[in-house]
Amino acid sequence: MKGLVHKKDFLTLAAGLILSLAPATIFSQKKYFQQNVNYIIHVTLDDTKNILKASETIEYTNNSPDELTFLYFHLWPNAYKNNSTALAKQLLENGKTDLYYAEEDEFGYIDSLDFFVDGKKTKWEYDPENIDICKLILNEPLKSRNKIVIETPFKVKIPKSGFSRLGCANQQYQITQWFPKPAVYDVNGWNQMPFLDQGEFYSEYGKFDVFISVPKNYVVAATGDLVDGEEEQKWLDENAEITRQWLDKNVTTTEPAKAIILNVDTTPKSDSSYKTLHYSQKNVHDFAWFADKTYKVLKGEIELPYSKRKVTTWVMFNKSESKLWSKSIQYINDAVYYYSLWNGEYPYNHATAVFGGLGAGGGMEYPNVTVIGPTKTDRELEVVIVHEVGHNWFYGLLGSNERVNAWMDEGINSYYENRYMETKYPGALLFENSQKSLLKIFSLNKYKRRYQNYLTYLFSARTNEDQPIATHSKDFTDFNYGAIVYAKSAVAIGYLSAYLGQDVFDEAMRSYFEEWHFRHPQPKDLKKILEEVSGRNVDWFFNEMLTTTKKVDYKIKSSKKLGDGSYDLVIKNKTNTLSPVPIYGIKNNNIVAIVWYDGFPGKQYVGFPPLDVDYFKIDYKEDVQEINRNNNKLRTHGIFKKTEPLKLQFLGSFDDPTRSQVFFTPTIGYNNYNKTLVGLALYNNITPQKKVEYLFAPMFGTGNKELAGHANMAFNFCPRGPLFQLVNIKISANRYAYNDYPFVLNYEKISPELNLKFKKRNARNPLHQNINYRYINITKQTFTGQYDQPTPVYTKDSTFLSFNEITYTLKNKQKINPYDLSLTYQQGKDMSKLFLNVNYEITFKGRNRGIDIRFFAGTFLNNTNSYPYLYRMSGQKGSQDYLFDNYYMGRNEYGNFLSKQFTETDGALKVYTPLGQTNNWLTALNIKSSLPLIRFPLRFFMDVGMIPKEGSIFNKEIFFYDGGITFSLVNDICEVYFPLFMSKDIKANLELNKISYGESIRFTLNLNMANPFKLIKDFSF
Ligand SMILES: [Zn+2]
Repeated sequence: MKGLVHKKDFLTLAAGLILSLAPATIFSQKKYFQQNVNYIIHVTLDDTKNILKASETIEYTNNSPDELTFLYFHLWPNAYKNNSTALAKQLLENGKTDLYYAEEDEFGYIDSLDFFVDGKKTKWEYDPENIDICKLILNEPLKSRNKIVIETPFKVKIPKSGFSRLGCANQQYQITQWFPKPAVYDVNGWNQMPFLDQGEFYSEYGKFDVFISVPKNYVVAATGDLVDGEEEQKWLDENAEITRQWLDKNVTTTEPAKAIILNVDTTPKSDSSYKTLHYSQKNVHDFAWFADKTYKVLKGEIELPYSKRKVTTWVMFNKSESKLWSKSIQYINDAVYYYSLWNGEYPYNHATAVFGGLGAGGGMEYPNVTVIGPTKTDRELEVVIVHEVGHNWFYGLLGSNERVNAWMDEGINSYYENRYMETKYPGALLFENSQKSLLKIFSLNKYKRRYQNYLTYLFSARTNEDQPIATHSKDFTDFNYGAIVYAKSAVAIGYLSAYLGQDVFDEAMRSYFEEWHFRHPQPKDLKKILEEVSGRNVDWFFNEMLTTTKKVDYKIKSSKKLGDGSYDLVIKNKTNTLSPVPIYGIKNNNIVAIVWYDGFPGKQYVGFPPLDVDYFKIDYKEDVQEINRNNNKLRTHGIFKKTEPLKLQFLGSFDDPTRSQVFFTPTIGYNNYNKTLVGLALYNNITPQKKVEYLFAPMFGTGNKELAGHANMAFNFCPRGPLFQLVNIKISANRYAYNDYPFVLNYEKISPELNLKFKKRNARNPLHQNINYRYINITKQTFTGQYDQPTPVYTKDSTFLSFNEITYTLKNKQKINPYDLSLTYQQGKDMSKLFLNVNYEITFKGRNRGIDIRFFAGTFLNNTNSYPYLYRMSGQKGSQDYLFDNYYMGRNEYGNFLSKQFTETDGALKVYTPLGQTNNWLTALNIKSSLPLIRFPLRFFMDVGMIPKEGSIFNKEIFFYDGGITFSLVNDICEVYFPLFMSKDIKANLELNKISYGESIRFTLNLNMANPFKLIKDFSF
């Protein structure tokens, strides 16, 4: 499969690995065998009810040495039966809610099963855990070397397309993973598994004879060759001819190709008469078919590189895709040619790609035939087609177990996909379709296509969220399935091939193909062949690179020229991962020598041949997934041997190891005291995370004519132990103005903090835990004196405040009903308090946001000098933000628009009341809810809160409430609250103070000034 990896989330692994390796070790004494399964299937499509009526006859040969008393069968259409199947759960965990929220008629299933074995009715039962697996209990044991014939009718209700692979929409049918199919029985025993999105395949080889009956006007693409299908063949050829002529007339290829809106074809009525097409194919492990009445067809042919045998190629697509797909035959032809050249020849007669409305784009592979989702550009379509056609090798011909070793197809296949693109388009860049001038501005015009895989890996690895390549498919996070199985594996295999040498690697891969095609290879089988062919040890790859998350980072420390002209280089292995390291000698930007050194721990002297070089560089060609490429270069001459020239870069770019990058952007801000702020931000990183990150953003307040701004510096560590995933140490500083009537003054805040992110035992667990400690030091300018005198006398002074705060946070980021909880202990000179904040969201289907519930409870442990630190029923206004944590346009305003800004802390009532302030305890419940029939951004809010009488500053009211309508200008950032009702005392107090309705409307503006990029991230994630 090819999911498009966008920008777009360990110990279990160890356990999982042991568990998955254990049977392999126990059974490894057994000799390799594989079962043989031949199918005859008759199937009729009812396109009014989206139902398949079918019968199946299976000839099952037991080639194992064991006697089988039962067989496991996959009934994978049942994966779509309801929203609690293994598939539905995995999709939901991955953040996809379609199947979870599906309507009754959108689900799919398989039923009407009635198994007969050798003509005798046979008992079967559903797997207790998965309704898409069943156990067929044989009447008599199936002895080794014997075969049985299994027969059953079945009916499939086809689900709506877009949930996963099987589906239909607008009478376009993707009939995949659709028939009862025995699970694989191999040296490890039974490999029964529910259908999942991640790690789709492991199947037995055999021969398929499938008879498909559809209304006559359907165009069908399927696994296998048409038998006695001259008439159908002629019809397809005619369609191809018409399509070609139509394209020649209507599609000008000079125009940039672009996808038009999907499904513009009006679906014609189905023919009342049916045709039956017989497809036959041996040596495949799956059978899929696709049908659409509006498919346009193109036909081509490619001659294989060695045998010169010809393979027919087909593409089928809808009219809406015509422009994009007009050149697609060439993509299939080239894919079949190169994969045959590099690995071994395509043994079948046709290779076909069809367009299909797969949910999120990407594509999906089946033997001979692949389905390609919507794509946007020529290049994207080519990549997806090449990738899916390539799976005919790494999945189809080399039938590894994708559920356990997904890298053996997705990883190796992604490597060849990259190789194809680099061979066909040497020097192709990462961003090709964007505007050249823009790319230049952001220095994005120098990244090669292959950088994408490396970068995707970095996103995961730099935050220590990566998982070993050899992780079980179902245990990968959604993000890592792309970032590790596809991206890191592809880079790592490129690393391996660079180490062995391209020719040697190719020879080994051809031997691998020769020995293992139509079979089930394991990692050890590939390792054995690589070592036999190359004569080298690749333990580092199989025992460390695949099975651990150890990073690679070599550093070149120094060089010394020796008497004979050769060099002594000092290389340091900063991660102690024992993988080989290539060192290049470069003269006038040409490679003069490459020397590979086997991995070593710590610091080591290595020799380099006597050559005239300008500089040495580790991994000059960027084959290695080096976590830090900035310490790879050393010049032989000059003073600054390691320093790269400074590059000031507007806004930001990716890492460029050939430059010392400093990013900059002009900044602008506003508050009522500095007035308009202008300045410049200098920083070294946007994403992915770096070890050291800084931001320095001085600004000038045009109102008070003083310096303001903020700065921070952070250090990120990925500790090895089992406790923490990430340790972040950060120091930040702010200086802005506030006021103390009638003066405009400055405050300065310095805050060092420590963030500890706990490691999760199961990477897919949506629970995240964090501990944050921060020390907050605030220096406020103050004035003392008598300024109400005719001649005021005052002296400038400073107040120092300091606080310690420790917060534990638990976050559940699940898609349905997410919640978080934080417990904070805060301590200052005159007070200490403890408070709990809980947020729970009840998720609604569709566009409305659901219900947000907040619970707050806080108590003082000590409050000697109470007033500034009170718990407040109405949250914090600017003047009450004693930690200077939040951004206020007017920090100390009364009675004007700016004074209506508040932060939802403490009681978080939306109406302001001075009544509910306490130095004792406070508890509150806040609800915001979408309304029936009214779409977000309008929501209903209601708050209730309570304080004890003792400690309330008016010593009076204890219970408060309010409610009304909220309008979100920017979700969770800027919201306006219109009160509709409130408790009696609040109302009386408003009237007493002559507060009009308009004045009771307040708003929030949650901008974190300390880090403007947090804001960008808030918006983008
Ligand atoms: Zn794939």
